[in-house]
Order: sequence, then structure tokens, then C-alpha cells
Amino acid sequence: MKLASRMERIGTETAFEAAARARALEATGRHVIHLEIGEPDFDTPRHIKDAAARGLLDEGLTHYTAATGIPPLREAIAADVKRWKKIDATPDQVVVTPGAKPIMFYAMLALIDEGDEVIYPNPGFPIYESMARYVGGTPVAAPLREANDFRMDVAEVESLVTDRTRLIVINSPHNPTGSILTDADIRELARIAVDRDLVILADEIYGRLQYEGEPLSIATLPDMPDRTITLDGFSKTFAMTGWRLGYGIIPEWLLPSFSRLVINSVSCTNAFAQAGAIAALTGPQDEPQRFREEFIARRQLIVDGLNAIDGVSCVMPHGAFYAFPNVSSFSRTSAEVADHLLYDGGVCGLAGTAFGAHGEGYLRFSYANSRENIATALERIGASLARLERTGEPATAASAASVQA
Ligand code: PLP
Repeated sequence: MKLASRMERIGTETAFEAAARARALEATGRHVIHLEIGEPDFDTPRHIKDAAARGLLDEGLTHYTAATGIPPLREAIAADVKRWKKIDATPDQVVVTPGAKPIMFYAMLALIDEGDEVIYPNPGFPIYESMARYVGGTPVAAPLREANDFRMDVAEVESLVTDRTRLIVINSPHNPTGSILTDADIRELARIAVDRDLVILADEIYGRLQYEGEPLSIATLPDMPDRTITLDGFSKTFAMTGWRLGYGIIPEWLLPSFSRLVINSVSCTNAFAQAGAIAALTGPQDEPQRFREEFIARRQLIVDGLNAIDGVSCVMPHGAFYAFPNVSSFSRTSAEVADHLLYDGGVCGLAGTAFGAHGEGYLRFSYANSRENIATALERIGASLARLERTGEPATAASAASVQA
């Protein structure tokens, strides 16, 4: 028996693997603080759960729905993106999916032929690169550098565009660095997309967790509605990761393709979860607001704490719930530093390279954890790193590649 050769090209999200290793360690009696997980530690607000429960128990939402979502949810999403993102979209342009991730998959399947190029942020959410490769495309890394506040260098992006480029993925606020694109960056990216006839996949899943300035959605710019797939969802804003609810705002010419891809893969999204989603968007917003305020306080706590540790420096993230400290002074690969912190310090974070080769020299800590746990984790990280000698050259993307090879 033999696997299809494309399976050699599929990547993964190492956050799930790191969590499994941490759990194995816990099974031996060790105490581990989990800073690897990219999900809010809050519970889903009660009124959202009640709405889904009513849908399940009283309203008969136990059958297939329309492939792209129930009409009242698509209307609520169209109204919500108008309010928060200023995107003008009809409910027909909304495609509801089980989590936002399938929107990435469908975008690549619908647009990328063998050998087509996809420009994506590196470090970045690992699924962009994995999916581009899996569908036969060529992922082209746009490096994010600390010197540029981890923003995409737009001139560099333009230089990476070739006749084979079809898609540019942008993500602001950004996982794993917490960076945000400036309005000027976004306008320039739109100009490149129009000049070179490209589609943009705008991953705005952390849009409501931007802590400075107002996010600008690229789909609001002239000529962009027809060439932008906007991705968002319920996981991060409403603490609903386990519900699997996301959506895309899709240009009209792509809708038949997206609809077919949904029908071929999942048929539709869970019916009663969609009832909960309506409540999330149309109900009180005080809890998501409270989550946001708590993340802002934790951001300060973790960034100050990391910067107080010898050999560590951490820029202030502007959104999402991740800190991305520079640990290159320890002259180990970031994977080695992350392992040391897990096994020696009892703190589970992720190596920057879990997000691509350009993450070398960094770690990602999620601050979606209590202030108390973050404070204890910082003490442990400080003590554990003090036991790691600092000699030789800092780790670089090139040295990490040689270690992996
Ligand atoms: N986009 C980014 C940048 C993410 O970090 C994540 C989740 O970690 C997703 C999309 C996917 O979210 P969902 O849980 O809705 O599939």
C-alpha cells in the first residue's frame, strides 16, 4: 500500500504536537504551563451557548443547511463586516465554514495550478505554506524581520512577484509576531495586486484584537472587492475555537467554486453552531470587549517580563495574543531553546521555526493564559534560561536549516 505522493508535501501545525509533548511530560508528574496554544482561555459567552442550545433542542437545527450557511447568519455576517471592516458585501458573498481554515484550503484549491506561486508571510501561520505546496503550488516566502517591526516589506513583496504569482497572503494582526500592516502597506499591496492582476487572501482573524489604530481591510480599497478573499471567524474574537465556525467574504466570480468545494468536502457547517454564531454577532459585545482588555493587560505583563530576562528582547506586539521574543543570544536554535524551556523549565512555548525558517532566533508564547500563570511562566523562563550557556554565534535561519538537514 502506498500514499499519494502529494502527502509528502503537506505540512502541519506544530502547536498540536508541542501540546502533545507537554501532556506526555505532565503524565510523568511534571507541572507545565501552556503558552503554546493559539486559543483564548476564556469560555464562550453564555448567550452564544444558549442560542446554539435552543437551535439544537427547540428549533430543529439538526439537519443539513444551505452549503454556504443559513441565510440569517450570512445576513448577520454581511452586516458585521460592514460595521467592523467597512466591507460592502452581499449576504450571497458570505461563505460559512467549519472554522476559518477551510477558506485557506479552498482559496488555494480554486486558484492555484501546478507551479503557480503564492507569496506568504514567513514567519507566518504554517498552513499557508503547507496548503500552497499541497495543491502543487510554489510557496514564496516574504520574510518578516524584527527590524521592520515584523511587517511585510512591501517593496520586497513586489520584487518577489513573477508571471507565475497568483495569490498574496496577508495577515494583520499577525500570528505569530503580533505585527500589523500600516495603511500605507495595505494600499501599496493593493496597488501591486491590481498592477499584476493578483488575488489577495486577507487573513483578518485577529482583526478585533488589534490594540493600536483602526484596522484597514484591503477589500475596501478601489478595485479590490473583486480580487480579495477576506477570511475571518469566531474562534479568536468570541472564544469559540472548538465550535469550528469561520467564514470568507468571496468575490462573486469565485462563489460557484467555493460553493462546490464546500459541497465536496463538508456539505455545510454545523446547523446549531450557526445559531450560536448569529447570537455572537448580534448579541451583547461586552464579553469580547472584556477579553480584549484582558489581552492588553497580559500583553504588557509578558512583554515587560520577557524584556527583564537576560539575553531576551521582545518587541511590543500590536495585536493577536502572542509575544515573539528574540532568543538568538543563546546560540541555540529556537527549537533547542523551546525544548530546554519545556523539559528544564516546565514552560511550553513554540520555536519561531514552527512558523517558517525566518522564525529562527525567536520563540512564540501565547498570552491567552491567566496573569497568574504568565507571571509564574516568566519566573520559570528566567531561571531556566539562566542555566543555558550563551556562547558562539546567534542562531540564524541558515544555521537552523543545516541543523534540520
Ligand atoms: N488564521 C490564523 C492567522 C490563525 O492563527 C488561525 C488559528 O490559529 C486561523 C486562521 C484559523 O482559525 P480557525 O480556528 O477559525 O480555523
